[in-house]
Amino acid sequence: MHLPANGACQCGEVTYQLTEEPLITYACHCLDCQKLSTSSFSITMFLRRSGFELLSGNLQSWERPTAAGNRAVCWFCPTCGNRIYHENPQMPDVIRLKPGTLDDTSVLDPRAHVWTCREQPWLEHYAELPKVDTQPDLAEAMAALAEGRSPV
Ligand SMILES: [Zn+2]
Ligand SMILES: [Zn+2]
Repeated sequence: MHLPANGACQCGEVTYQLTEEPLITYACHCLDCQKLSTSSFSITMFLRRSGFELLSGNLQSWERPTAAGNRAVCWFCPTCGNRIYHENPQMPDVIRLKPGTLDDTSVLDPRAHVWTCREQPWLEHYAELPKVDTQPDLAEAMAALAEGRSPV
């Protein structure tokens, strides 16, 4: 990862900068991450707090118990709701960034899938799914479905 690395929430009000290499990055399949991502997993990047600097915006937080039995304080942009990072109050030196908010996500380097006991069964076929470069045309997809053809 090129440092410093910049990131922002979806609306752009919250911006931040990373100044240290991440400790490790996981793809987490726990149910909380499925809710958060509205998908099958989320990417979590463990960082030393000293390597994270908030540049603009005012984060808000809410707190919840985690599947692992800890507490998570979840920091988000109050305007667009985009989650920025989580922290465990008992491990104040480490934050868990939601690194999909980085400007350059091509540098993400997940090293493991965790909570695979919750992994969605359809992920097994994920790499074989048809691929569409951009948003499929909805009207065409509906017409294809009506004719019994594949929508993509
Ligand atoms: Zn925002
Ligand atoms: Zn998770």
